Amino acid sequence: MSRESDRLFAAACAVIPGGVNSPVRSWHAVGGHPVFVARGEGPYVFDADGRRYIDFVGSWGALVHGHAHRAVVDAVTRQAVDGTTFGAPTRLEVELATLLVDAVPSVEQVRLVSSGTEATMSALRLARAATGRDRVLKFVGCYHGHVDGLLVRTGSGALTLGVPDSAGVPPAIADLTILANFNDFEGTREAIHMHAHDIAGVIVEPVAGNMGVVPPAPGFLEMLREETSRVGALLVFDEVITGFRVGWTGAQGRSGVRPDLTCLGKIVGGGMPLAAFGGRADLMRLLAPSGPVYQAGTLSGNPVSVAAGLAALRGLQARQDAYGRLDALGALAERRLREALQATGTRGTVNRVGSMLTLFVGVEEVRSYEHALDSDVEGFARYFRGMLDGGIYLPPSQFEAMFVSLAHEEEHVEELGRVARRVFRGT
Ligand code: PMP
Repeated sequence: MSRESDRLFAAACAVIPGGVNSPVRSWHAVGGHPVFVARGEGPYVFDADGRRYIDFVGSWGALVHGHAHRAVVDAVTRQAVDGTTFGAPTRLEVELATLLVDAVPSVEQVRLVSSGTEATMSALRLARAATGRDRVLKFVGCYHGHVDGLLVRTGSGALTLGVPDSAGVPPAIADLTILANFNDFEGTREAIHMHAHDIAGVIVEPVAGNMGVVPPAPGFLEMLREETSRVGALLVFDEVITGFRVGWTGAQGRSGVRPDLTCLGKIVGGGMPLAAFGGRADLMRLLAPSGPVYQAGTLSGNPVSVAAGLAALRGLQARQDAYGRLDALGALAERRLREALQATGTRGTVNRVGSMLTLFVGVEEVRSYEHALDSDVEGFARYFRGMLDGGIYLPPSQFEAMFVSLAHEEEHVEELGRVARRVFRGT
């Protein structure tokens, strides 16, 4: 072993299961061992051996301003000096909650938590309490964190590793989860109506990102809104990826569909551990201490995380063209990757919504989970390794999204296209 990353990985494997603290960081699906990151700067990450890569992972979508963004670093530093946690309310929490309520159309009240998993877990508890029903419908290939009842036919790392159903989830809990296929209108309607009397809610990624990017078919989210209302179930949008990513108002702003509850994460924490769930005030008031649904956290609304989130969101707000810019960079990335496929006669396609995109290898069109599964994961692994050799850091899985950030310039995206062309040409 020559690389410092390899040495670190060997040491990690002795003390951390699989050498990583989250399975999506593993390179099982693409071969080799993960690079250990020493630092990040704007659009770049530097590994433990000092090698620089253009980063299109962006901490899985959290870093909309890129690494070590000045305003975020300053906010974190200032707050750390004043104290890192109090377990008591702070002014900053009110500011962040107000910003979220103002930005996200359906959110009237919001509670801050520390991870996307906590947000979805809590939102579903609330949905169950509000409706007095137990079952929840999720879509095959969507991922909503490692909540017991949601680790059923899930996407992201579990799908990548071929374990979409987790061991350790009691069948009694998994049985409360109803499954349907994303973008399957008839099957979804049927599933909702079959459980019309015991379904508490439908949870969905309004743009699927954890089977690779799969946009909702026209009318699909509208159909979910209509059918959930008809049977008295709640519609829960998991906007952990899409929130402040596909637009200031999230996927709900883009689609015009208003969910009852919304989960946020990633960008709202500015790269620190922070997430949120919110929605209709009458529902949110059911939470303790104003209501009977218990939900809590020692580090919830942590001042350093909140300061980072506020700095990131205000940075987006201050930049009039932020979403136009992200969309333009995303479109350029899509175009260059498509050209690389075409110019080299490589079968594949690119799905994109704004600044989140996935290049699927070996398939012509991906509109569903089934289509995503048809992709050539061996071909993707070769593409991933070639890109890495060319200095491009991508998610190590076919079933994830890559992201462009405001720290990327056209030259970084052009380099992505050039390296992809070389890799597909096999030179
Ligand atoms: N929901 C979605 C849509 C996600 O992509 C993720 C994580 N990638 C989560 C929930 C879980 O968030 P966390 O990893 O912060 O628990």
